[in-house]
Amino acid sequence: MELIQRYNNISDDFLVASKPATVRSAELLLWNEVLVNTLNIPVAKSDAKAILTGSVQNVCSPSTALAYSGHQFGHFNPTLGDGRAHLLGAFTDSNGQLFDIQLKGSGRTPFSRGGDGLCALGPAVREYVMSQAMAALNVPTTHCLAVISTGQSVIRNEVVPGAIVSRIASSHIRVGSFQYLAVHNDTNGLRNLMDDAIARHYPHIVSCGNTRVIEFLKAVCSAQIKLVIHWLRVGFIHGVMNTDNTLVSGETIDYGPCAMMERFDFNQVFSSIDKQGRYAFGNQPNMANWNCARLAESLMPLIDSDEESALQMLSAAIAEFSAEFNEAYQDMWASKLGILVWQDSDNELLSELLSEMNSKQLDYTNTFAALTNAMEVKSDALFLVPSELDSWIVKWQLRVSEYERSDVLQRMKITNPSVIPRNQLIEKVIAEFNELGHSPLLTKWLPILNSPYNYKSVPDQFVNTANSDTSYQTFCG
Ligand code: AMP
Ligand code: MG
Ligand code: MG
Repeated sequence: MELIQRYNNISDDFLVASKPATVRSAELLLWNEVLVNTLNIPVAKSDAKAILTGSVQNVCSPSTALAYSGHQFGHFNPTLGDGRAHLLGAFTDSNGQLFDIQLKGSGRTPFSRGGDGLCALGPAVREYVMSQAMAALNVPTTHCLAVISTGQSVIRNEVVPGAIVSRIASSHIRVGSFQYLAVHNDTNGLRNLMDDAIARHYPHIVSCGNTRVIEFLKAVCSAQIKLVIHWLRVGFIHGVMNTDNTLVSGETIDYGPCAMMERFDFNQVFSSIDKQGRYAFGNQPNMANWNCARLAESLMPLIDSDEESALQMLSAAIAEFSAEFNEAYQDMWASKLGILVWQDSDNELLSELLSEMNSKQLDYTNTFAALTNAMEVKSDALFLVPSELDSWIVKWQLRVSEYERSDVLQRMKITNPSVIPRNQLIEKVIAEFNELGHSPLLTKWLPILNSPYNYKSVPDQFVNTANSDTSYQTFCG
């Protein structure tokens, strides 16, 4: 296996050499063969246990841990970094695009602080299932190549089995990575990191000087807007949108305390540590905006002018976030409702629906699946519009009757999933792994999660909301 070393030219202390801990008895529990083939990943299944636990090291690319800072729930922590992760290196796919391979749960690093450097099997499985489901939902995301149990116990609230998850990401450059270099007054490092991020994610940016910095910032803002719009479209609640969990690529990372919103509620929070609702479902756009403003601050030293003008330029770029978001947001609801051209009066139609869904505690996914299904000539009995919407649906059907039914249906079908990774099912899968070391449920569920816009013959078990629970709680893992 040939891997390329990544991030070694950014700055002297941007990464440190660090070796994964020895694993007692590795067992390959989950292996994403489709991902291997799609990205041309240079790891064979037969070598997975050795390579993806770090016991066999790559000669050209010794493993490292990356430094970063981060605002955690609004509070700045200058020294975070990979405390339980090792970067093995990067490979290029058949289009010449770089991808990092990182292990998580592979032991302590110089950034571990008080932590054990380990990952419990449950969160590893959650990351594997969620990232695969998100990719199938067309949400930008990091991917999981494998989950390997280590045979070592991990102490959390109770003693649980340990695992190493291998993550594939187009980069691991976080807003917190820029914050780290900024807090160390490392202007060269900042420029190197920005150039690396532009080369990997935004190669259309060819300008120099201040324009380059502003264009980079705007590109990251646009990527965050796209990402958060996808989250809102499918009902995803990230749960821990700290700046260290925000990749400048705009891919979803850190599936620790995430969950899916089931009953519609903008205020929905599942994470046990999010006491103030900072990362509530409907607050995610504000938080993405806030995180982009922290990136802007970090880029200040790269602007060649006096402090006040630099601040003005960066603030002007951040000020565009809202308008760009609002446009994309309107477009998202238009697609969800099958409306081809949004009109002012549609705002009322939408808010009436959302308020009805909220007060009647209707399931977000199943309601939009039912509206989509209602457009089918031969509709499936699995997705019926709830009777609570009887009077609203008449108005909506009148509105969309202005368009060709097939156009409406087509737009809705690529926007509204019929299947999402429901919280209680994820919990059952995790419980099966903890008890049996494998999950018969996941074997049946994964193919369903992999075609989430299929409206035909979805087994009832995967769309059933009988067990959905607003008191459900998630933990950082
Ligand atoms: P997170 O909340 O998962 O984004 O993690 C925040 C920071 O804590 C990161 O720097 C992690 O590397 C570190 N961290 C989380 N869990 C552990 C652990 N079990 N051992 C060491 N570091 C950890
Ligand atoms: Mg994290
Ligand atoms: Mg985490």
